[in-house]
Amino acid sequence: MQIGVDLGTTNSVVARLDENGDPEILENERGERKTPSVVQFPDDGGVIVGTTAKRNQMEVPDRTVPRVKRHMGDQDWAVDIDGEEWGPEAISAEILKKLVADAEEATGEDVEEMVVTVPAYFGPKERNATLNAAKIAEFDKEDIELLNEPTSACLRYGIGDTGAGTVFVYDMGGGTFDATLMNVTPDGEFEVEGVKGGQRLGGEDFDDELYDHVRGEMIDAGHPDPEDNSAMKADVYEKVTDLKHDLSQTESGSISPMVGPGDTFNIDLSRDEFDEITEHLVDETFDYVDALFDHEKVDATKEDVDELLLVGGSTRIPKVQERVEDYFGMEASKGVDQDYVVAEGAAIQTELEPQGGGGGSIVLPRDIGLKTVDPDNDKETFEMILSEQTPVKASESKRGFRKIDKQSPKITIEILEGGKALAEENDKLGEFELKNLDEGSDPEFEVTFTVDEEGKLHAEATNLDTGRKAETTLEIGLTEKEIEGHIQRSEETHDDSVTRD
Ligand code: ADP
Ligand code: MG
Repeated sequence: MQIGVDLGTTNSVVARLDENGDPEILENERGERKTPSVVQFPDDGGVIVGTTAKRNQMEVPDRTVPRVKRHMGDQDWAVDIDGEEWGPEAISAEILKKLVADAEEATGEDVEEMVVTVPAYFGPKERNATLNAAKIAEFDKEDIELLNEPTSACLRYGIGDTGAGTVFVYDMGGGTFDATLMNVTPDGEFEVEGVKGGQRLGGEDFDDELYDHVRGEMIDAGHPDPEDNSAMKADVYEKVTDLKHDLSQTESGSISPMVGPGDTFNIDLSRDEFDEITEHLVDETFDYVDALFDHEKVDATKEDVDELLLVGGSTRIPKVQERVEDYFGMEASKGVDQDYVVAEGAAIQTELEPQGGGGGSIVLPRDIGLKTVDPDNDKETFEMILSEQTPVKASESKRGFRKIDKQSPKITIEILEGGKALAEENDKLGEFELKNLDEGSDPEFEVTFTVDEEGKLHAEATNLDTGRKAETTLEIGLTEKEIEGHIQRSEETHDDSVTRD
């Protein structure tokens, strides 16, 4: 069987095509259509993924990993479980394994191939990490296809069947916000024209605002501070999330958090108050949208948008819908549940020719450049070579680089990603050296960065005086040997687990 997987920051969803060729959601072992993307390593061994892990997270925070997707591609990030480091790929693999096991349980069929969706905002590192997570979950590279989430939404809405156009996808989930501008070419291909995203902006921020509000009311009324009691805190969080969901349906609601043994405290909240408390978060999403349209590499304007798609659970919030529709002066396409549109689109993709490059050509999500020193103030700064929003495959060169220390026989080129003014604020992707330079010489260098269709970065530096070159191709992510090690560890971890969740 082939499945489509929306491997979300907050929730994951699995779908396949039914016998009529229509997408159907596969329920997990608990009968849920969404599986929380939360992984937990209980004290007594094994791994739990999903609702149980989410429920217990405040009791065992050190052994629970929510939102691992935010860390995909970060090779320095890992959680320590009993002295073992679990990186983002290894943790994500546990989610995939659970989703696959549940899909097999639900259908009685083996999962042979899967389409896994990724944000268009994911760059080469993040995409590679996602592929490696699937490998750790024991899928061969040929059996996995990555698909951009906005492309998936387009497929589900049948955009592309009806001809060319410009599509804007506003995706706000639990932990991230993604704005994607896409072109559908006359022959139905999807091209990403621009992406902007907030890796730290989503529904959970709305929960945090509500939590702060409710906490304030509790303290003002003389009740204990939920910050001092993890059970109370968990209770308030659960209830504010429910209240937020209710307020998408009703004009007002109330919750009664625990304030002591057998004692609760009632708090009312109207939708208007909720909108006011969270207005700045919605504003922030439009900062990204504005920045996308303002970017010099993006030609389209918001008036060019022909189709507007809303994706992600947080776009259920009426104020969010209203503001997006106001911004574009048009109605969003409706009819597919925001929570399932991505997984259902991925299920449709299982039957289509691979989209390549992750679902239509992609653009660089962040500026890539190198570290230089500003001669005026000796500050280490970022010098851009490849701009964000540049379609991949891409190549750019820049000249005018010189040695900082004229006596040095070499220069080291540090490759950075991020586009922030100060070098240290960016992520380092790698480095390479041009050696054997004459001491005291002052040659000019040219630097060329190339990103291929697979997202691999090739960097080259040329000494323009001598013509000598140095180059590197960045190896991103885990080695095959490390992946093998993770496969084995995961199996061992599962061996000593009792069946749970
Ligand atoms: P992700 O893509 O990050 O995995 P989802 O698309 O599943 O996330 O969205 C999850 C978020 O959507 C959560 O923060 C959840 O509270 C929010 N959400 C779900 N339903 C509603 C609703 N009816 N009203 C408001 N927010 C909702
Ligand atoms: Mg999502």
